[in-house]
Amino acid sequence: MTETVTTDADQATSAETFQTLNPATGEVLATLPVESAQQIAGKLADARAAQQWWAQIGFGARKERLLKWRTAISARIEEIAEVIHREGGKPLDDARLEVILAVEHIDWAAKNARKVLGRRNVSPGMLLANYAASVSHVPYGVVGVIGPWNYPVFTPMGSIAYALAAGNTVLFKPSEYTPLVGKWLVESISEVVPEHPVLQLVTGLGQTGADLCTSGVDKIAFTGSTGTGKKVMAACAQNLTPVLMECGGKDVLIVDEDADVPAAVDAAVFGGFSNAGQTCIGTERVYAHEKVYDDVVARLAETARSLVPGDDTGASYGPMTMPSQLDIVRRHVDDALDRGARAVVGGRDSVGERYVAPVVLADVPEDSLAVTEETFGPTITVGKFATVDEAIKKANATRYGLGAAVFSKSRGELIAERLRTGMVSINSVVSFAGMASLPFGGVGDSGFGRIHGADGLREFARAQSIARLRVPIPLNVTSLARRPGMLKMLGKAVAKRFGA
Ligand code: NDP
Repeated sequence: MTETVTTDADQATSAETFQTLNPATGEVLATLPVESAQQIAGKLADARAAQQWWAQIGFGARKERLLKWRTAISARIEEIAEVIHREGGKPLDDARLEVILAVEHIDWAAKNARKVLGRRNVSPGMLLANYAASVSHVPYGVVGVIGPWNYPVFTPMGSIAYALAAGNTVLFKPSEYTPLVGKWLVESISEVVPEHPVLQLVTGLGQTGADLCTSGVDKIAFTGSTGTGKKVMAACAQNLTPVLMECGGKDVLIVDEDADVPAAVDAAVFGGFSNAGQTCIGTERVYAHEKVYDDVVARLAETARSLVPGDDTGASYGPMTMPSQLDIVRRHVDDALDRGARAVVGGRDSVGERYVAPVVLADVPEDSLAVTEETFGPTITVGKFATVDEAIKKANATRYGLGAAVFSKSRGELIAERLRTGMVSINSVVSFAGMASLPFGGVGDSGFGRIHGADGLREFARAQSIARLRVPIPLNVTSLARRPGMLKMLGKAVAKRFGA
């Protein structure tokens, strides 16, 4: 059923609209307003007023509200999973999984905000031992969260829950492909926090995101492609608005010679094909030790061939959510095959009009697009290595650096520590994303800053330091009335202390 959605009372001023579709069928699900810079300014003013209240009620009251929200979402997992499935195309089970993970994050952020951000005493140091020193982390104010469509609940929640727990209010601009999911989230929190709009929806297209960046919000938390991330940074530079960048990835899965090969292949198939490969931390490259390479390729081929993309309950994964992604996947597969790669499963014909059948490519030149660029489709490349050094070199030969997985019985940590990525799973895949205590984020073209965990809370707060004079002493160096020779004497004492 098609609905026309308004996001607030002043929608009448929104001349332009856009449609959100079911990517499996093309059915129009809703028509929504493209909000203008002026409308964003109005919402920002409301968010500022709400933030005064939200900050002032303190950690305890915020925790109580956020835990209510967690419970409310948990009670309606089936309902939101259905919205995700219809608007994003992924199978219902995948939709349920992302909601389950998201509520874990709300729970953790709510319960840990005071401990991580609350005021704590620190040592003033010997030089100023007559002072008391303390630091606390105070909210930025209003945070703009710009989200992607591939995990429309889990991904923005990594910013929203942590920003709210820290005492900020949020303006949330979901992807134009999943605005109804964003709307559901905003409505669900307004039921448990009815007093003020602590989380508001901003709908529209790319320009709306750009307008949010220059609206005067106090921080932007962006999740999306590296290319858009650069535009967001440039826009935010205008007002020196701080940014968190969660961008694309080209994650690797390494299968060592002593690995449990069936488990590694099962993980590679989940990491590479679930959600049609449209996962920032999806497995796009597999490197297997030469002793297990043939076994890995054979098992990968067998399992990948058994996958069935579709829209029904038995489907392994759904359609490509964003039609333009089909061209990118096609270009990467064609480029690899043109350069001599071998299609172990699928090939050029695998890319259809809405769906992409599984593709496994072997003998892919390391400089081909399928190895160097984010494909974001149900494709995997498989390569070989002889030594750990070679595996690390190949794994790290990318501008991206988001997540990775290592399968090894004896040297998982050793390999993991040498990977240039923000996160690594050992003998599993993407497991770090489900652990709310672990920071999540990348390096290089995958971005910077962290969501999740204590670092994720600090990302949405600024440190405020306080130094309090406890006991006045005659040796006051910050007074122009200080005694002549005092600093010379102090210099000698410092030199002695540091062994000069
Ligand atoms: P995009 O970069 O296309 O869009 C991301 C968001 O930015 C959308 O809400 C989009 O709005 C908005 N946007 C577009 N143009 C601008 C602009 N000029 N200024 C401000 N905002 C803008 O990414 P996708 O939605 O296609 O998401 C897929 C990408 O996200 C992949 O690269 C994936 O790896 C990455 N990703 C990263 C994650 C991480 O944690 N590191 C997690 C999940 C995804 P609109 O949709 O209306 O154009």
